[in-house]
Amino acid sequence: MPDRLTPEQRRRCMKSIRSRNTKPEMMVRRYLFSRGFRYRVNVKRLPGTPDIVLRKYRTVIFINGCFWHGHEDCPYFVLPKTNTPFWKAKIERNRERDMQKRIQLRLLGWHTIILWECQLKPTRRDLTLKGLERTLNQIYLENYALHKVRPYAPVEEETNGMLVADGGEVTTT
Ligand SMILES: [Zn+2]
Repeated sequence: MPDRLTPEQRRRCMKSIRSRNTKPEMMVRRYLFSRGFRYRVNVKRLPGTPDIVLRKYRTVIFINGCFWHGHEDCPYFVLPKTNTPFWKAKIERNRERDMQKRIQLRLLGWHTIILWECQLKPTRRDLTLKGLERTLNQIYLENYALHKVRPYAPVEEETNGMLVADGGEVTTT
């Protein structure tokens, strides 16, 4: 960071760095990396700027704060006693926005995984991260199955072209 920043600019810069590299997010990133997953972070050209993007898995991950994103039935999501209607409306808007982003991502062919802050607290962390890994592997297998199944499925209607059926074996060229 260059030194010519004013104190205010510097404060904002530091703040934005902090919000981008929040602790739960780093934890997820470190875990995925150690398990051999490769990803990009804060991908701005995708709806909602996902925290983690795993291209090979067609999957994005958001690490959501329980309060700001309104985690239902969560002890960490408690509306403030003052200005309650204001907060309620604000959180509701955030949730609506999250939903819209998720739909947009789906239309673009992306899976979305939401990890909640409370799921990354020390007592639940291991289970959550293992579950995440399992989910990613399932998604990969499903994606793989979808692509692999396609050439087999239409073999009866479509015997011309690239598909060659020979004793039940189907090969593509
Ligand atoms: Zn929560």
